[in-house]
Amino acid sequence: MTTNIRINSDRLWDSLMELAKIGATEKGGVRRLALTDLDKQARDLFVRWCKDAGCTIGVDKMGNIFARRPGKDDSLAPVMTGSHIDTQPSGGKFDGNYGVMAGLEVIRTLNDFGYETNRPIEVIVWTNEEGSRFAPAMIASGVYAGAFDLEYGLSRKDVDGKTIGEELQRIGYAGERECGGREVAAFFEAHIEQGPILEAENKTIGVVEGVQGIRWYEITVTGQDAHAGPTPMPRRKDALVGVSHMVLAVNRIGMANQPYACATVGMMQVSPNSRNVIPGTVFFTVDFRHPDADTLQRMGAELNAECEKVCRERKLELDFKEIWYSPPVKFNGDCVAAVQKATEELGFSNRRIVSGAGHDSVYMSRVTPTSMIFVPCKDGISHNEIEDAKQDELAAGCDVLLRAMIERANA
Ligand SMILES: [Zn+2]
Repeated sequence: MTTNIRINSDRLWDSLMELAKIGATEKGGVRRLALTDLDKQARDLFVRWCKDAGCTIGVDKMGNIFARRPGKDDSLAPVMTGSHIDTQPSGGKFDGNYGVMAGLEVIRTLNDFGYETNRPIEVIVWTNEEGSRFAPAMIASGVYAGAFDLEYGLSRKDVDGKTIGEELQRIGYAGERECGGREVAAFFEAHIEQGPILEAENKTIGVVEGVQGIRWYEITVTGQDAHAGPTPMPRRKDALVGVSHMVLAVNRIGMANQPYACATVGMMQVSPNSRNVIPGTVFFTVDFRHPDADTLQRMGAELNAECEKVCRERKLELDFKEIWYSPPVKFNGDCVAAVQKATEELGFSNRRIVSGAGHDSVYMSRVTPTSMIFVPCKDGISHNEIEDAKQDELAAGCDVLLRAMIERANA
């Protein structure tokens, strides 16, 4: 019955390119941080497109946007899809944006064919998925799923001290609706892989079985600021030299837990950051990932021990905080099967895959049957302005999404 329904590849591509103009960078990427004026513009465009497609719009207290296409029986729990439209400071056109535009394209396609699903269909824009402006990442889907309370979500601050709550008010997306608490039949998220596996193996679709666990640390090392000239080497308490050993330890721990572990120091603040002053304080972050919860836990314990040792030897003070833990996730068997079946019916090459990146689906999977659909991205590169994906592969992922959603919406 659904055999002849296909999404419109050009329309999906054109929508992605139109959205990418908002915050476009010279190198072909997008800089559209959460809850900025540019984010508001992109949200407004999404809302306008959804209204044009006949959807009703709801916004919840975390600013998550829900565009709804009614079902034949509108009292049934909806089948949902969605992702995010905030980006990294030097982000790409496809991360997150693809999942949202794919959801919109599903609705436009159902409209084209006059196809009514039993259950309603909803497309979601999740607030602040990236965690770049406001940590932690995936905060608003986290509140939706009950992983964080609303107060915590609204009070997260950016580096200038502005909160999510204030910024939602400012751009007009502080909604009335409670976060979560509704029954949802299934959630699907289409996304670029953000890794090299599908491209390397020449597969069009990644049927995502789950997501790696993540642990985030914030570490501050304190020594003593001192003049770079008169202070003899043996007397120094150089925080940056100590931290350099810790950065190498992070990398060593990652390499010791291959093939799955990832270990990254991505942010560092050196104080006072002056060329002729010995650094007295260094703040840095660590991002550890592994699909096995025990291994991930061990990696963190090992790093903690290593940092303590460095500080003991160098007479430095250590403040070691774990600020976030996202356990490894296994997606729902029925939803994974729906994606697999749709992929096979459409004849796309595929493989099972575990996501290396966190996604809103991680939190959604706690409250509703969930799975994801991956498509390849060029050289596996994401969180970069040169992030790229092929129109036909993006369309393939969207066709899989359409089919999987129709199946679940009629079940
Ligand atoms: Zn994303």
